[in-house]
This record gives sequence, C-alpha cells and structure tokens, in this order.
Amino acid sequence: MTELQIGDQKILYDRDATIAIYQCIDRSWADKCRCLSCKNFLAHRDRVYPPSFLALLDQLGIDPKKESEIIEHPILDDYARDRLHWYDGWLNFIGAFISGGDIVQAPDADHFEYYFVTGLPGIGGFYDRKPSIAIEFETPLRWIIPERPESHDTAGNTYIWTENGEHVKVKPEK
Ligand SMILES: [Zn+2]
Repeated sequence: MTELQIGDQKILYDRDATIAIYQCIDRSWADKCRCLSCKNFLAHRDRVYPPSFLALLDQLGIDPKKESEIIEHPILDDYARDRLHWYDGWLNFIGAFISGGDIVQAPDADHFEYYFVTGLPGIGGFYDRKPSIAIEFETPLRWIIPERPESHDTAGNTYIWTENGEHVKVKPEK
C-alpha cells in the first residue's frame, strides 16, 4: 500500500484494489435512495466536488459518482435565507488509517472540507471489507429541485420550507 499525508492526517491506500471494487458497484447511495435530500444532491452532482478533491479521489482510485452515503443535516438558521443545506457524505477505499488530524479546507472552493475516517459502512464490495476506510466531506448546497424540502419532528408532524424561507407545518391529510 502507498502512504499519503495530507496536513497532519496520514493513511495508506491501495489504488488498484479500490478501482477493482468500484468497477463492480453500479449505483451510489443517492442513486438508490431517491429521497428529496438525495435528489437535491444528485441535481448538484457534477459540481459538488472541487477539482482538488476530484484529483485526490482519482489518486485513491475512488469513483466520484459512487459515494457510500449522503446525509443532509437540518437547515441552519444562517443558511436558511440562502436556501443552503448542510450535506456530508463519504466514499470508501481500500487502505488503512495511520493518524487523524485537522479537517482540510479545499483551497479551490468556498466551503468544502474533508477528512479521513474509519468505521463507516461502505457499499458494494466495501461492505464489511477490511481494511476499508473512507474520506468524508462536508459542504453546504443550495436547494435547487422544485420540490420543497421536508423535515419531521418526533410527534410525526411534517414541515416544509416555503419560497420565503419560512418553516411551516403541513396540515395532516384526512
Ligand atoms: Zn436519501
């Protein structure tokens, strides 16, 4: 395996083994899920990753269109006005974690950060595969699909964000 250091994070990776697994994965998490959060992510797909991050994925042997999982976090007040939603997700690869460190800010994006992690589930041939680690990213993305984003509370109520940035309860269907 090849050693790679980014900032104070250090890992080992096996590019060929990773490429071989990605070749057998047909669809990503977001492609399979089709919830509104994933649908919005897919609408951004070709613009989500800055060139420096795409170059790193290529170095590791990762197919950028086959993320293992995407999570959208509740809208933060600061971002609601601009309809920005906070996303994170990760892509697995064959390798090993040597040491963690500070989050890396991509120099060629307004707000895109990433770090190496262990213990996150993978898709396809990465599922249950050891050694498999992942590169996790976080970035805000605008809500660009026509459907309004939904959220839910513990009582089972559904809320949507309106065009004006208001969070309103949806009347239950009778
Ligand atoms: Zn989804």
